[in-house]
Amino acid sequence: MSRIVMKFGGTSVGSVDRIKNVSNIVQSVYDEGHEVVVVLSAMAGETDRLINLTKDISDDFNKEEYDVVISSGEQVSVGLLAAALHENGISAKSCLGWQIPIITSKDHKSARIEGIRSDLINKILDDKKVCVIPGFQGITSEGRVSTLGRGGSDTSAVAIAAAIKADFCDIYTDVDGVYTSDPNKIPDAKRLDKVSYEEMLEMASLGAKVLQTRSVETAMTNNVALRVLSSFEGADKENIGTIVEEEDKINDQRVVTGVTSSLNDCKITLIGVRDKPGIAAKIFSSLSENNINVDMIVQNISERSKTTDITFTIPKDDLSNAEKIMDLIKDDVPYESLLIDSNIAKISIIGVGMRSNAGVAAKMFSVLSDNDINIDVISTSEIKISILINKEQAEKATSMLHQYFINENE
Ligand code: ADP
Ligand code: ASP
Ligand code: MG
Repeated sequence: MSRIVMKFGGTSVGSVDRIKNVSNIVQSVYDEGHEVVVVLSAMAGETDRLINLTKDISDDFNKEEYDVVISSGEQVSVGLLAAALHENGISAKSCLGWQIPIITSKDHKSARIEGIRSDLINKILDDKKVCVIPGFQGITSEGRVSTLGRGGSDTSAVAIAAAIKADFCDIYTDVDGVYTSDPNKIPDAKRLDKVSYEEMLEMASLGAKVLQTRSVETAMTNNVALRVLSSFEGADKENIGTIVEEEDKINDQRVVTGVTSSLNDCKITLIGVRDKPGIAAKIFSSLSENNINVDMIVQNISERSKTTDITFTIPKDDLSNAEKIMDLIKDDVPYESLLIDSNIAKISIIGVGMRSNAGVAAKMFSVLSDNDINIDVISTSEIKISILINKEQAEKATSMLHQYFINENE
């Protein structure tokens, strides 16, 4: 007997028929004698619908009430599934984030899980019931409802798996695993049998939305055995999916594991910033204090002049906030002008094999130049190379890089 957390995403619970299908999958695992905790997303489109309601009231909707509104979609899914399981003759009980409780930080809209009490979940499992928990939601130490950021149900599932010491955390979604690139955009992308935590972390943060980045982080730190599976193919033995695990358990000799594309970033350039110590610290600490994640940073070298230009990328959703911050710090960090470019795509190649293979960057740049694609900004780490290009060329760049690094290197 194993203890298993099964998470189902929005499309997997997108209609009553899909919820009945989930109920059958859960039943088949429960009937094998396992202890089962189910974590659910809101029905597909529901979170977007709720967000639009808040926008109809205000663009600056109160953050605490925002979480009250947008966490409600998950409550509907868990009630529907628990009842569908009852119809199947399985005893199930739903419990909401505050009832468990799942304690989070106070960063409404993108709170971090700080602790999960396992007593209630253990009690439900000891009673031989299936425990059904809404993903995405928690409660702050002040007793306010919080949410974990878009795609946050993945993180709820992994954190619950860690808290109750589950043997597996299975993420059921609308594709049958993690692919070398988004299978809905790159038709010849291949399913990976295994991928390392580190590679998955980079892939998720660089555009592969199949797993929320924090869920991979949480799995990595707590050593949670993570599997990505399809809810559309049933729970048969053919549905092997992808295992996300430690690098040393993976023997593949690949250099590049995945190619990702993200249209979620925008680029800010501060022109004519003074070239002296403390300036970059001031810019980036004020962004981080406001929870804005900066990704790429480029500062031009100023040989003769006393000023320089600083370029960086942030998520598009944070743009208006970042503009306000740059305005506020203008007295401390004078600059001539600020340029914004939202017409960009970030394309990345990722693979632990890059550590031991020289020349990958050179090959990447020649594939792009052969296809007339101009590179705007480059950033690298040990296991990834990211470039910024014009958004219109994103599909072509992803497909050409996938063709070169994955298909031709099989
Ligand atoms: P869920 O609603 O189940 O959480 P998501 O829509 O968040 O599902 O994530 C699944 C989607 O992730 C897939 O439909 C696919 O288009 C996209 N995706 C992007 N990159 C990848 C990848 N490398 N492998 C698999 N899916 C990917
Ligand atoms: N319902 C939330 C969202 O759409 C959380 C999730 O699905 O993981 O982002
Ligand atoms: Mg998701």
